[in-house]
Amino acid sequence: MTVLVFSENLDVALELLGKGRELANDLNVKLGGILLGQNVKTSASELIAHGADVVYVVDDPLLAEFYPETYSDAMLSVVNQANPEILLIGATKRGKELAPRVATKLNTGCAAAATNLRIDKEKKQLIAERPAVSAMVVATEFSRTKPQMATVPPRTFEKPPRDDSRQGEVLEVKAEISKVDKKIIELKKKEVKGIKIEEAELITSCGRGFRKKEDIKLLEELANLIGATIGCSRPIAADLKWLPEDHWVGLSGHKVKPKMYMAVGISGQVQHLAGMRDSKIIVAINKDPEAPIFKVADYGIVGDLYQVLPAMIDYLKGKKG
Ligand SMILES: Cc1cc2nc3c(=O)[nH]c(=O)nc-3n(C[C@H](O)[C@H](O)[C@H](O)COP(=O)(O)OP(=O)(O)OC[C@H]3O[C@@H](n4cnc5c(N)ncnc54)[C@H](O)[C@@H]3O)c2cc1C
Repeated sequence: MTVLVFSENLDVALELLGKGRELANDLNVKLGGILLGQNVKTSASELIAHGADVVYVVDDPLLAEFYPETYSDAMLSVVNQANPEILLIGATKRGKELAPRVATKLNTGCAAAATNLRIDKEKKQLIAERPAVSAMVVATEFSRTKPQMATVPPRTFEKPPRDDSRQGEVLEVKAEISKVDKKIIELKKKEVKGIKIEEAELITSCGRGFRKKEDIKLLEELANLIGATIGCSRPIAADLKWLPEDHWVGLSGHKVKPKMYMAVGISGQVQHLAGMRDSKIIVAINKDPEAPIFKVADYGIVGDLYQVLPAMIDYLKGKKG
């Protein structure tokens, strides 16, 4: 019996190991990591150093490219061998393709995009919490079937500290992988200017409080002075198209967890908060003292952004000499 975690993204896999360790301890079972791909075995030590007791590896040329069909076949072989109590999959783009296929093949349920996981110790059951109904409510879900599955968005849980003295077992699984009738011809990397918003440590974000596209220059000037990346609310990217979707923060945009998130002219509706409320420090600038963003803000400035931003820029420029 194990708690098993998988993500093709190593950072996300380590985050899952962090939460997985708690769950495995509560169930008094081992914690396992899964590696699927070609030449992936080298990452096993990384998983063990971050908490895995055992690592299941399917190393197969058929897994050199990601196809949900082949990866779900491989995952199924691991599950058949390991018989896990719980299976967690990172809700990356690929993970979101993989998890429902695996759940369907296993005839089990899967809580999608869980933001919290815990064990009901009496029933030995996984309890998953996830935003539902446009993030208006938190749904609490459990599965009556095994393995109990959940997907978890990146940056939901903390990576555990690295401990190179940890020992673990590495088990190679011979998987039955069926060939797919399609071929990836070319993979093109999406071009992102500057730092990806999900990886930014400082974010200054704009909302509909900005009257026109050109005014975002004010925020860019501030961002340049403090080394921040620009984010935005959904209307700015989706409706007004003033910024590309790469900048969009929230439930249907990117989930971010920077050291500092500054929301400027953003009201703070639940769907926006769903993407940034885990930021370490939240600063809000809004002319409406009743704006919901102030309920989650650590520091708030009630004022007109067209006065507050220039004052901040002048101050910072003065400091820089
Ligand atoms: C299924 C679903 C998914 C969604 N997903 C997302 C998502 O991922 N991300 C997201 O952001 N939204 C999302 N939304 C939309 C969300 O509900 C809000 O409509 C949106 O976040 C509002 O954006 P805003 O705060 O920029 O605009 P508004 O709500 O219009 O707020 C503008 C704010 O600016 C302030 N303001 C105005 N002028 C000034 C000024 N001169 N100085 C200072 N402050 C000023 C106002 O007081 C106000 O608080 C989603 C909605 C649904 C239904």
